[in-house]
Amino acid sequence: MIDLRSDTVTKPTPGMLAAMSAAAVGDDVYGEDPTVNDLERHTAALFGKEAGLFVPTGTMANQIAVRVHCRPQDEILIEATSHICLWEAGGPAALSGVTCHTIDGRHGLLSVADLDGKVRPDDMHSVRTRLVALENTHNRGGGTTYSLGAVNEVSRWARANGLAVHLDGARIWNAIVKTGVAAEAWGKPFDTVAVCFSKGLGTPAGSMLLGPRDLIAHGRRVRKLFGGAMRQVGYLAAACRYALDHHIERLADDHANAQRIAKAVAEVPGFTLAPPEVETNLVWFEVDARHGTAKQVSERLKAEGILVAPLGTRVIRAVTHLGVTRAECERAAVAIRRLA
Ligand SMILES: *Cc1c(COP(=O)(O)O)cnc(C)c1O
Repeated sequence: MIDLRSDTVTKPTPGMLAAMSAAAVGDDVYGEDPTVNDLERHTAALFGKEAGLFVPTGTMANQIAVRVHCRPQDEILIEATSHICLWEAGGPAALSGVTCHTIDGRHGLLSVADLDGKVRPDDMHSVRTRLVALENTHNRGGGTTYSLGAVNEVSRWARANGLAVHLDGARIWNAIVKTGVAAEAWGKPFDTVAVCFSKGLGTPAGSMLLGPRDLIAHGRRVRKLFGGAMRQVGYLAAACRYALDHHIERLADDHANAQRIAKAVAEVPGFTLAPPEVETNLVWFEVDARHGTAKQVSERLKAEGILVAPLGTRVIRAVTHLGVTRAECERAAVAIRRLA
């Protein structure tokens, strides 16, 4: 099976497994895991932040950020199809008493023009607008990337309005490789940044919240509350460090493979790439009625040995990652063209 459902389906490489089994570990709840401590320092430095907090999932990193920035009755300004409000099981409301003020963007991206005028008045009838959250690359938007200029503008606008700014950077690595802009420049416009090691970077688990020392110290208490404080977790941190050292530049291969698949999709009458330009490793497309539903199309591909994700009646996502080779993506492209 060629598994293009998600970049989370990867298994650790032999090099990663070797790094994991060689890891020095200790009890991270006591702050005694040297590999976790090193990963937190190293990743924070990469993004120009004071401190880092290792957590099991990207969802937890985002939800801790919401909790440390906001109080109950606060709201977040956020693009309507963002992971935080769409795919985190209602976390802001359930965990922090926070409302998501959703704003339609363009393929997941927001500009100052979209945000301007959205801050609530200081009035007892209103929620308090407190946080702007961006997502880069944007998953549901189609792996779309912000320009650094656009992010800096949103950040300046937010700060001028007294709002904090958070980045859901689960796939910031893909944005770094696509744009050639370094991690530190992407970190600067944000108070906090959440990054994932288990998507494109290919670790079995692991994410991190980055930010100022005081917010991260608060986040450490929230991580305990949310059940995310782990013990000898240096084995996972070692996988993450290995991925930072070996798996970032290779994301360019995933982007090239996504182009091969996108090209095949674009050639099938009744399939439409949405968005039309594939920028990174996510290929989202719509299938029209002549092909049946997205589920039926994915069943047909499955019979050819290709797994994709039907994520709506007419919507399919195909994702490239370190677990699929160029040759496998070329085979997938052939199978897709055969559906014409
Ligand atoms: C996957 C993902 C996350 C976090 O997901 P977990 O499965 O909780 O690690 C957060 N944001 C985006 C944009 C994602 O794609």
